[in-house]
Formats: sequence, C-alpha cells, structure tokens
Amino acid sequence: MSPMAISDPSPAPQTNGAPLKAAKAWQPIKMSSSVRKIGNPIRELMTGIDLGAAPEKGSQKPLLNLGLGDPTVFGNMPPHPAALDAIEASLRSGRADGYPESVGYADARQAVADYFDEGASGNWRITKRDVVMTHGASGALEMALAVLAEQGKNVLFPKPLFTAYETMIATVGAEIRYYDLLPEQNWEVDIASVERLVDENTTCIMLNNPSNPCGSNWSKAHLLDLAAMTKRNQLVVISDEVYAGMAWNVTGEQPTEQTHAQGKFNRGVFTPYASVCGDSPALIVGAVSKRWLAPGWRLGWVIVHDPQSLLDDVRDGLGRWAFRIQGPNSTMQRSLPALLANTPEAFFDETKATLSSVGQQLFARLAKIDGLKPLLPQGAMYLMCGGLENFDFENDRAFVTALHKEELVFILPGSCFRLDGFMRFVTTVPLPVLLDAADRIDAFCQRHRKTVA
Ligand SMILES: *Cc1c(COP(=O)(O)O)cnc(C)c1O
Repeated sequence: MSPMAISDPSPAPQTNGAPLKAAKAWQPIKMSSSVRKIGNPIRELMTGIDLGAAPEKGSQKPLLNLGLGDPTVFGNMPPHPAALDAIEASLRSGRADGYPESVGYADARQAVADYFDEGASGNWRITKRDVVMTHGASGALEMALAVLAEQGKNVLFPKPLFTAYETMIATVGAEIRYYDLLPEQNWEVDIASVERLVDENTTCIMLNNPSNPCGSNWSKAHLLDLAAMTKRNQLVVISDEVYAGMAWNVTGEQPTEQTHAQGKFNRGVFTPYASVCGDSPALIVGAVSKRWLAPGWRLGWVIVHDPQSLLDDVRDGLGRWAFRIQGPNSTMQRSLPALLANTPEAFFDETKATLSSVGQQLFARLAKIDGLKPLLPQGAMYLMCGGLENFDFENDRAFVTALHKEELVFILPGSCFRLDGFMRFVTTVPLPVLLDAADRIDAFCQRHRKTVA
C-alpha cells in the first residue's frame, strides 16, 4: 500500500505559521512571445474565404477544392508497393524500435549518400558523414535556417515562394529579403535583384528548383549563372530540391547531355545545384514526400556540400539541432535503404508522364480563356496561371473568393506565395476534375472580364 492512500486525511498545509495565499481564479495560459511569431501565411491571407459557405441557391455542383499541394488527396497517385513493403519489413525487423542516433541511422544516411552521389566521374561526392536525417523537407529547412540565420542577419527568399519558409524562420528573428523570379523567363532568378539585396549581414540564399508554386525547372545554363553569382557574392545556398528529378522536357528536344546519372535524376533535364556549384558551400534539402508521393511519411534530409571545409561549424550546428529534435521516426528511417533501392524507375517515369500530360492539357484549356495567361509546367506538380488583373477584381484574393462563391472552385491565389495576379493549380489532381474546374472558370471569366472604357 502506498504511503498515502486515498482515504488518508489530507495533511495540514505546512505554512510555517505564515497565512496561506488567498486563492486566485485561474487565468488562461499564454504562449511564449517567440512562438507567437509563428504564423501560417496561407491561412492569414485566406481569412475572408469561407470554404464552408453554403453554395448559392440552386447550385448542384460539388465543391472542387484544388488548394492543397498534396498528391494523396484524390487517391489517383498512390505510392509504389515496393515502398510499402520496405516500411512493413522495417516495422517487423526488430531493428527499428529504439532511439536512432540523433543525426539518423547510419544505414539511412548511407542510403541517401549512395542515392545522390554522382560517382567518380561526376563532381558531386557524398558520404554518410554529409547527411542528417530530418522530419521531412520542412524539418530540414527549419534546421538549415536555424543553424545559419539569426537576429541581425538577413536571408534571401524567392518571390513567389513556398511560404512555409517564412513560418520556419519566424522564431529565428532574421530579416527576410525577397528576390524576384521572372515569370516571363521561365521563372528564372532575376540575378540583379539578388545582388541588390546582398550585404555583409546576408547569411544565405534559398533556391527552390523545381519550384513550388511555379512548376518551373531551370536550365543548366541558368544554374551555372546562379552558381557564378553565389560564388561572386560568397553566398551559402540552401537548395530546396524536394522535387529533384521531377521535371520534363516540354519542348520535346532531346537532352543534349547523356550523363551517367541520366536515369535516376533525369539529368540533362533536371540539374542538381551541387552538380554545378563546384567547391562553393551549400546545404541540399530533400525528402521522400514528393518524389515518392507520400508527404505524410515525414522523412527528409539535409546534405552538406562542402568541398572547401567551410561548413565545419555549420555541421556541428546541424548535429546540435538534430540532438534537440531526436530525429525522424525510426521505422521510416530503417525502411529507407530498401525504399530507395527498390522503387522502380518506371514509377518515377509514370509520375513525370502524368504530371507533364496533365500540365499540358490544363495549360491548353486555360489558354483558351480570354484574359488568362497560364504558364506551361516543366517540373514539380503545379501550374501557375496569370492574367487575373484582366478581370473585375481588385486583386487575386478577390478573384478566388468570388470564384469560390459563384462556381464552387477553390484555388490558392498567387498572393499566398507573395505574388499577386496569379492562381496556382495542383497537377496531381485528376485531369477530369481540373477540366471541370477550367470549364467553371471559363464561365466565371466571361462574366467578369474587364470592359475596356
Ligand atoms: C512540399 C514542400 C516542402 C515540404 O516537404 P515535406 O517533406 O512534406 O516537409 C518543402 N519545400 C517545397 C518547395 C515543397 O513544395
């Protein structure tokens, strides 16, 4: 029996003779001021759009919610069975139940190194010492930003951008400076806009290729220009390559360069930043989420690219942050070697073929709508459509709000990615759903086209 059973009378309070404090009423408990800085830019920008709003009277149409960039929403693009087998085997192995090393299991890090290493004839060599396992690409980005940035420093982010970057750096207190991507030039970086922003307090630049939300894939020539720029300005790069290899040749030209890594990373079409940046330092971010079509699995990594050993302290920092997080889930980590080795090339080819074909057909349909200016997707899983200024709304949020109200189609406006005048389609959505949405958008656009005075 415990020393103090329930039936024991409560002991008299020990007050040492002093009077007891008067009981105060409970007050709600507040979060810390640091955490209060964390926002969800998309949610904040979307206040005012009520997705639960009742449809207008007489409307029989189902709501088409095309907002989420998640390939699993419609069930038409499941992960490969080999990946499921790898996870099941890991779970049952008896080798995935304890604490992994905080930077990740050695075999998981080795598997990432083997997968991304370009071999002796390539110029990008990776060992397991260069890899830290993380909680998805988000965890990798948060880790990289936390280690590199701080109050008083600034970081360079693209515009438009995956706005979670802003969320991830919120508690760090560094200033965000936005450089421009040029929609009319295949969303290439406006290099002059970067060089205007750089100063002695710039701690890193974020690159994202292929891009969310742009659906773009930069040419090797542009990546070489970027590498020259980062070298000229001594900028450490965080390269978000969560869509590595998810790119295709829209012009139908054959890639000119048949490199050794052609198959796996679609080289000649997709160019990894680390393959062109020579000895400049970079942190490369990747994950299972998009390429393996399962963002819920939450497994990602940071790869340190550092031929000059300039990032030794940063490596130490990544290790410290990893210790604080205690790594991603052990079952997923242990599954990674088999997951990477056994997913057949055909799976990625099929994903690319679907995304490319859906992108082209949606592009062709939207291009027929007077006033809209769709941009042909070349990578990732998005199509950006401009021209929203040609309709009777003060900005893209007003456009998508009215579109939702009148046609029950919900699409994220460009301003959710910090670029007004656009809307972003997700091309993992089944084509018939996208074409239904496009028909409704056509009707909507006809009603709202600006009349020339
Ligand atoms: C989806 C996405 C991520 C986040 O990936 P997770 O692995 O799910 O955390 C990071 N960057 C970009 C550009 C994305 O689109």
